[in-house]
Amino acid sequence: MSARIMDGRLVADKIKADLRRQIAEIRQSHGEVPRLVNILLGQDGGACAYAKSQRKVAQEIGIEYLLEELPQPITQDDLIAYIRKLNTDPQVHGIMLHKPFPVHIDYRAVANQISMDKDLEGVNVGNIGRMLLGDTHMSPCTPAAVLEHLAFHHIPLRGKEVVIVGASEIVGKPLSLLFLTHMATVTVCHIATTEAGLLPAHVGRADILVVAVGKPHVVRGEWIKKDAVVIDVGINKRDDKIIGDVEFDQARERASWITPVPGGVGPVTVVMLMRNGILAYQQQKLKRA
Ligand code: NAD
Repeated sequence: MSARIMDGRLVADKIKADLRRQIAEIRQSHGEVPRLVNILLGQDGGACAYAKSQRKVAQEIGIEYLLEELPQPITQDDLIAYIRKLNTDPQVHGIMLHKPFPVHIDYRAVANQISMDKDLEGVNVGNIGRMLLGDTHMSPCTPAAVLEHLAFHHIPLRGKEVVIVGASEIVGKPLSLLFLTHMATVTVCHIATTEAGLLPAHVGRADILVVAVGKPHVVRGEWIKKDAVVIDVGINKRDDKIIGDVEFDQARERASWITPVPGGVGPVTVVMLMRNGILAYQQQKLKRA
């Protein structure tokens, strides 16, 4: 029997309905809505497309979304000065940096300047540290989206073998911490796992497999354990089509649940950014009260 599809739009719609209610309450109580500032350096196609979908979802929910396309070239010092200004502006509740960055700017140095309370993607080193200590209420958006998919479909995590392929700072590593807080047993694979010829063996053990690599079909369907849950985070362009990191048709024959690409993790990731925006707003209101 082929796997059931985890439709990201259904997950996103449910959360959006909840966020719309929260925004209506905020507007009624405070006469304002959260304002999020998204910083774009340059005209990267992927970043522009992501920003466009963020704006659309922000409008649907009723959040104020500002896209700041900063004039290029910009120095690191000027960028940091701009972020510090946003940090102290009480009308700005959330800040996000779009990647990629120009090579002359150190992303880490800039990300660490975002106020911890306004850090929509949890990229400030202080927020990364909080996650390590189990404070996951405002987690990075893509890892949070993966967890939302699993929760929506009532898939238990405690004691499960979770294998994550991809160990990036924005997806694989924080996701491993989220799974740990849910008491799953977590293995994180990366390029050296493949180089060592061990990827099929690790993938084959997974009750829950998450793949975030960015290489089309890097995970073969035949490796997947029977009835595993497969979440494909990858976004790859091939012949004008968007495909994932997992061989979908073959994986579907073995898995119990699988996310499509597109239409799986992506739509939920955008909604997680909005949820973080509301959390950031509430946190700042509490501090000022
Ligand atoms: P990244 O390039 O920062 O990290 C890739 C990771 O994959 C690294 O840990 C690397 O070691 C590992 N890797 C590379 N080749 C490998 C191989 N052959 N076998 C095993 N591991 C390998 O990537 P990222 O920013 O985490 O993004 C990964 C993918 O997820 C991309 O396709 C990106 O577009 C997509 N993405 C999707 C969303 C979403 O919301 N759907 C969000 C973020 C990223």
